[in-house]
Amino acid sequence: MDFDVVIAGGGPNGLMLAAELRLAGVRPLVLERLAERAAVPKANGLAGVVARLMDARGLYEKVSGQAGPPVPTPFYMFGGMRLHLRDLAANPMYTVLIPQTRLEQILEEHAVGLGAEIRRGVEVTGFVDHGTHVTVQAGAEEITAQYLVGCDGGRSTVRKLAGIDFPGVTDDDVISRSANVRLPTARPDGLPVEGHGDIPPFFFYRTTTGVFIWARLADSLTVNTMEWGEGPDEDVPMTLDELAASVKRVLGADVPLEPPVLDRPPLLRRISGNNTRIAARFRLGRVLLAGDAAHVHAGIGGPGLNMGLQDAANLAWKLGASVHGWAPEGLLDTYHSERRPVAERVAMQTQAQSALLAPGSKVTALRTLFGELLDSDDTRQHIVDTMSGNDVRYEMSTVDHPLVGHLAPELSVTTTAGVVRLAELLRTGRPLLLDLAGVGAVAGGWRDRVDVVSATGPDQPALLIRPDGFVAWAGFDSTGLADALTRWFGAPTA
Ligand SMILES: Cc1cc2nc3c(=O)[nH]c(=O)nc-3n(C[C@H](O)[C@H](O)[C@H](O)COP(=O)(O)OP(=O)(O)OC[C@H]3O[C@@H](n4cnc5c(N)ncnc54)[C@H](O)[C@@H]3O)c2cc1C
Repeated sequence: MDFDVVIAGGGPNGLMLAAELRLAGVRPLVLERLAERAAVPKANGLAGVVARLMDARGLYEKVSGQAGPPVPTPFYMFGGMRLHLRDLAANPMYTVLIPQTRLEQILEEHAVGLGAEIRRGVEVTGFVDHGTHVTVQAGAEEITAQYLVGCDGGRSTVRKLAGIDFPGVTDDDVISRSANVRLPTARPDGLPVEGHGDIPPFFFYRTTTGVFIWARLADSLTVNTMEWGEGPDEDVPMTLDELAASVKRVLGADVPLEPPVLDRPPLLRRISGNNTRIAARFRLGRVLLAGDAAHVHAGIGGPGLNMGLQDAANLAWKLGASVHGWAPEGLLDTYHSERRPVAERVAMQTQAQSALLAPGSKVTALRTLFGELLDSDDTRQHIVDTMSGNDVRYEMSTVDHPLVGHLAPELSVTTTAGVVRLAELLRTGRPLLLDLAGVGAVAGGWRDRVDVVSATGPDQPALLIRPDGFVAWAGFDSTGLADALTRWFGAPTA
């Protein structure tokens, strides 16, 4: 076998998967079609509990440029309505402003530093699943591996060649225009526009004719509009004048837009239509899908990388267990059964937001009612849990404890090495029994797979935590612990 896992696509999710596979002790090969990283601007940042995954891998300070653990944001928005989060009992919405190209660079350095191999300028054009292994066609070369993962984006070749359906909907009537610009009239916290006051940055500002957004990014400003109806043909090149005319239609006022001065090609894009689609299966035999290859949706609120990078964390250790031969039966299938429902939730909430941004008096009425509901802490908590991915709960064990199935809480505990944050104990990417209840002896038969850290801490149960950060078991005594260890990490060694 040439490699354990071939990954088609070296975008953020393929690179994250490669790094996670290295932590799981297997040999991945990333095949990336492009000879050099694309300069085309895509994501501007991360939003949601993915920031905690970055923290758990020691990457948070690098991606955020800030010292210390992630701090939740006091404001966010849903469908262009402001969400005040400061007073919530638990605020799980973290935001990190980082251009996708920089994120990819960090993830590539991380993956290569852990020993992953990345080959650029190599396109995956075919594969055969032999049942026992896969043969991947990469240019003129045939590569053998135990598994193939398609991280090759929304138009995934792997998904299409595998014959996996991509059901969902396409909204044909929405036109999004975006560009890097100079906005001579912008102030740090607001863009004054006649008849509208100061429009805050990053805000989806809805009018009767469309949506206007301006944002201050790391190296530039952007302006976006959304309009509903028919746009120009795809082959008509987008221009700054076209964007200025769209801004005028949406706001009913002129906003001076000037070309930016940048040391990279500026963004200037028109996208007609919007897809919400989820692969029918995330696994077919020895072929799996992750990231945009598995799901696409509107980008409102930035859920794409929150989901894709966590797909990678969910999948890697399960592939590792399968390659090493200790995977309990059905473990790899839980990738589909756990992650597809997450994609369904994201499809639901992004479609709901799109609906709330659409024009029309009925939508305006709905927004008024929705705005009233947002006065309730419970409603805001529900919405922000949904948007951040904090509502994800997997079916885990028979133990009935509120932490089981959820992302592990943020904790500091005292070990023999002193006070440590739980995120720091997860850096190895190995399963962890955080033993706050003197139950560590139960895990003796799993020591080759599961780390045991004895600690004291706040009034917390002992926690069995999977490499993706989710709690597989919790208890103040060992009831159910051996079952949970067996269910997730296989039979104990004699
Ligand atoms: C304008 C825009 C703004 C966005 N803003 C945000 C945001 O702020 N926050 C957020 O979370 N998300 C955002 N997104 C979504 C985010 O960019 C995607 O979710 C993310 O890029 C998906 O990563 P991926 O690795 O799955 O796929 P991709 O980034 O699409 O990477 C796939 C890679 O596979 C390669 N490839 C394709 N076919 C093959 C093949 N056959 N063989 C080998 N290689 C192949 C491609 O060259 C590419 O490098 C935005 C997207 C766009 C377009």
